[in-house]
Amino acid sequence: MHLELESKIEKNLYGKIVSWQVSVFLPINIFRRKEMSEKKWVYLFNEVKEAEAYAGSWDAVRGLLGGKGANLAEMTRIGMPVPPFFTVTTEGCNAYLAEGNKFPGGMWDQMLAALKEVEKASGKKFGDPKNPLLVSCRSGAKMSMPGMMDTVLNIGLNDETAKGMVALTENERFVYDAYRRLISMFGTVVLNIKDEAFEHALDAVKKAKGTTADTDLTADDLKGLVEKYKEVVKKEKGFDFPQEPLEQMKLATEAVFGSWNGKRAIDYRRAEKIPDDLGTAVNIVTMVFGNTGWESGTGVAFTRNPATGENKLYGEYLLNAQGEDVVAGIRNTDPITKMAETLPEAYEEFIKITEKLEKHYHDMQDMEFTVENRRLWMLQTRNGKRTAAAAVKIAVDMANEGLISKEEAVQRVTPTQVDTLLHPQFTGNTKDDAKKAGKRFATGVNASPGAAVGQVYFDADTAERMAKEEGQQVIMVRPFTKPDDVHGMLAAKGILTSEGGATSHAAVVARQFGVPCIVGASMMKINMEKRLLESDGTVVKEGEWISIDGGSGDAFVGKLEMSAPSLEEQTDLLTLLGWADEICDRPGTRKAPEGWPTTGLQVWANADYPQDARRARSYGARGIGLCRTEHMFFEQERLPIVQRMILAESSEERTKALNELLPYQRADFAGLFEAMDGYPVIIRLIDPPLHEFMPSEEALLEEVITMRVKGETQGLEEKENLLASIRAMHESNPMMGLRGIRLSIVMPEIVEMQVRAIFEAAADETLKGVDARPEVMIPLTGHVNELHYIQPRLVEIAKEVMKEKGVEFHYKFGTMIEIPRAALTAAEIAGVAEFFSFGTNDLTQMTYGYSRDDAERNFLVTYVEKGILPVNPFQSVDTAGVGRLMKMSVEEGRAVRPELEVGICGEHGGDPDSIEFCHTIGQNYVSCSPFRVPVARLAAAQAAIKHAAK
Ligand code: PEP
Ligand code: MG
Repeated sequence: MHLELESKIEKNLYGKIVSWQVSVFLPINIFRRKEMSEKKWVYLFNEVKEAEAYAGSWDAVRGLLGGKGANLAEMTRIGMPVPPFFTVTTEGCNAYLAEGNKFPGGMWDQMLAALKEVEKASGKKFGDPKNPLLVSCRSGAKMSMPGMMDTVLNIGLNDETAKGMVALTENERFVYDAYRRLISMFGTVVLNIKDEAFEHALDAVKKAKGTTADTDLTADDLKGLVEKYKEVVKKEKGFDFPQEPLEQMKLATEAVFGSWNGKRAIDYRRAEKIPDDLGTAVNIVTMVFGNTGWESGTGVAFTRNPATGENKLYGEYLLNAQGEDVVAGIRNTDPITKMAETLPEAYEEFIKITEKLEKHYHDMQDMEFTVENRRLWMLQTRNGKRTAAAAVKIAVDMANEGLISKEEAVQRVTPTQVDTLLHPQFTGNTKDDAKKAGKRFATGVNASPGAAVGQVYFDADTAERMAKEEGQQVIMVRPFTKPDDVHGMLAAKGILTSEGGATSHAAVVARQFGVPCIVGASMMKINMEKRLLESDGTVVKEGEWISIDGGSGDAFVGKLEMSAPSLEEQTDLLTLLGWADEICDRPGTRKAPEGWPTTGLQVWANADYPQDARRARSYGARGIGLCRTEHMFFEQERLPIVQRMILAESSEERTKALNELLPYQRADFAGLFEAMDGYPVIIRLIDPPLHEFMPSEEALLEEVITMRVKGETQGLEEKENLLASIRAMHESNPMMGLRGIRLSIVMPEIVEMQVRAIFEAAADETLKGVDARPEVMIPLTGHVNELHYIQPRLVEIAKEVMKEKGVEFHYKFGTMIEIPRAALTAAEIAGVAEFFSFGTNDLTQMTYGYSRDDAERNFLVTYVEKGILPVNPFQSVDTAGVGRLMKMSVEEGRAVRPELEVGICGEHGGDPDSIEFCHTIGQNYVSCSPFRVPVARLAAAQAAIKHAAK
């Protein structure tokens, strides 16, 4: 094609006739050729600069070369021992997939050219029996993805090069070990043959030999195994294992590209919200061998402990082994520190490298290395996955060590990780008792902390099905896990394996997802046929309950009780959250008009009782954003009084009942002011429709009918009257009926009593020396006239009480914005209300017209699954609709009252994405349940950093 075009050009340049066809045709083709030759699909180990120039930033280089490729190139640049390699870009992967699984133009040629350079650098030749270069083919997306672990080692080996290598190394055993590994890896990863086919062949050889260890197999055994493996390929696929090295490389590259769209990769991307169009890069790396003998080995290590965060090298290695052996947990590994004795020079160099890498990347590194005949080679480094506890400790330690700033530390921990740390644990006593009672049936490596209680299932599909379809709490129990098991692991509350070590697949994935996990509980024998496990004399059948403690590595039969951990004991988390508050408190964080807050968001809490308020304060809340007063009405001794008050036929009768309730309410409020001394306390006046406080109509009707049928007369009339009253209260749409401010207008005595109770309590507390700051919140306002009607009366009561008690303190009257009309008329409402609080539960219900009590059950989950809605709007603020109303309310409200205090007290107040949105629209605070306060503090600081005023 290329030459033809050239000859056409010559002909036209020198010929006498220039046809119009050529003159049109020519420039297009020149353009195409230029495009094709300019597109660089492949980067060599020493071309990281070129990648940076093309991509523009380090993050983009990672996007282009994948995390693995970018870090290998970076390690090469800073002088670390990395075997020569080249990387095919993620753009190449996307082009391959877009073109219907075809290499885009130029890619293969570029791979061949790069291979030549790798040959030069390594001094070996691919496919040359005299001095063969072997390579590995490794996938590597921008983010490390345990769902894609398709690595093929020893590419380039065939019958001929194997012989050549034997002559070169004089180590026949090593060569045939490498060759059989190539065939099985290639067979499973590239040709999709089931592992078992190769495992059976290996087991047969070992059995014949009377051993269980791979290392006992001789050169001849392995040579025989190579032939058996070839037969497996032929039998399963109908063709021979490809002998041509270039074909091996090409097929392996295609397999990596193809695996991007494999089920396990897709599952993982969904779980981690990784976009589908990132693609994966492919790294072709010169092989170095950890299995040439006992002066070679391979291992994985973390610069700090990924389970606890302790600043101490953590890892394991195996002598005379190849990469996958360590991760697969097939042989028992040694702790990395032991390498100081077995491979001292390599260990010393490795220690120096780990220190340098952590300083270079400013983060904990997860590294893979190989030692070949005492020489160290680095095969990978990446930011290590870690547990929630480790994430917090590492972030705080690194900031204290001066390696990162406090802002970076705050960004290093995710809100979910903070949430995990406050999740339930088993208490010491519970476990001790269970041990004494002989319930502990296994112990293993404490791979991912946390407590989990669930029913046992022995495979990923069943585990997932039981969790999703049956709604069961599931513990997945397996000998070990593989990438195909990720869906089951995601659905499980806990994971327990009988094999594998601290860096095995199960451990790594569990830590990443915060799933409690124990690995290597080797006393367990899992019988997949009978679907049961036996351990230490105990039998656990599929479906039975067990409890596991991933922090200690203990597994128990039955359900152990869990309890919430205390924040006070988690000193690193307290430090981190202290920094988060410091960041939010900086004036100038938000550039804003006069009167608007310039610091970040504050976090307040929704708390109805003094004990909730105390917990909220200990979790770092700086105010109460919502006290739902009606909850107090439900208490046993109060409910009859409340019902009397509701059924009262005259105002005097009602007032009498209310006077009985007043001391209760006053005591409740006093407790809140005391707990929140110095912080604002927003108390919402009664909100729900009154029928909620009455007995159920159905139950009462049944009682009345039974009495009538049985002819019982005593008390019948009373019950009939009650039934009539309840029926009279019936509304077709109670959520839109007589509730909130409407109830206050129709029946003002209740809120008058509540306001009196609030102010009497605040006055008494003030006189005791407490700094009480009451803010009275009127719910469900829809029209400013409602406020005009009720608010001044209530303010009068407040003033009256302060006068009676002879004390003055600061107070506010405000309203909830939870009806779209209130948002649309925010300017009018702000003329009366001194603060707004977004009741996003109702505001979402009324903006969407979805019932907050029924939508999830009926259609909302389906909507989210089908992608009709991106998220559940009752969990995360719908910024385009509900959020727009909120933004408008802030702007129009503050146009009238610049100092207007604005917060949120719906469920969204504890949701990190919604918190970020609240920050951007200029709110003063978010309010959420006490347990979510720590998460919200972190999320608020992260929003402040992300949107910091320049
Ligand atoms: C709301 O509607 O968001 C709110 C906080 O009030 P409630 O949930 O009590 O209706
Ligand atoms: Mg509401």
